[in-house]
Amino acid sequence: MLLDLTRIRKSNDDLDRTLQPADLSQEGEAYRVVAPVRLICGVHKDHTRFRLTGTVKGEMELDCSRCLEPFRVPVDLRFDHLYLPHTEASAVVEQEVEDDDLETSYYQDDQIDLGELVREQFYLALPMKPLCIEDCKGLCPQCGTNLNLSVCGCKQVWEDPRLAALKSMSTHDA
Ligand SMILES: [Zn+2]
Ligand SMILES: [Zn+2]
Repeated sequence: MLLDLTRIRKSNDDLDRTLQPADLSQEGEAYRVVAPVRLICGVHKDHTRFRLTGTVKGEMELDCSRCLEPFRVPVDLRFDHLYLPHTEASAVVEQEVEDDDLETSYYQDDQIDLGELVREQFYLALPMKPLCIEDCKGLCPQCGTNLNLSVCGCKQVWEDPRLAALKSMSTHDA
């Protein structure tokens, strides 16, 4: 989804767009966008510079790093992004670096790719180690059973043999 900069006349303009999963090319990303994403921001115009400040709200689907099951996490991020015309790029890079919180990109052909902006925010929101639940039990290393959902027979292997002996004794008594 592209933002046509020639249509922005005022120095402050509000933007409210909903991007569908299909608007966001997700090839090779560690997350999947499975629901519409809402982008709400203010567009501040200063000659050829555009500063977009706002929020990205949606959901992303990840695969749990322990049990490999897909799960969804809400995304609600604030951003502050400065866009400069591509031609000016090399000249102004240095003076913009001073503000750490401000991300800087370049636009071409009077257009800003909003899909790219949203993709970047999702990327920044990615957890280092995605877990479906805090204490996900993961998969059994032997049979691959998802231990959050069921118990597998492999546990017997780890049973204390002395405990097994006790158990069989009590069965005999009965
Ligand atoms: Zn899990
Ligand atoms: Zn098992």
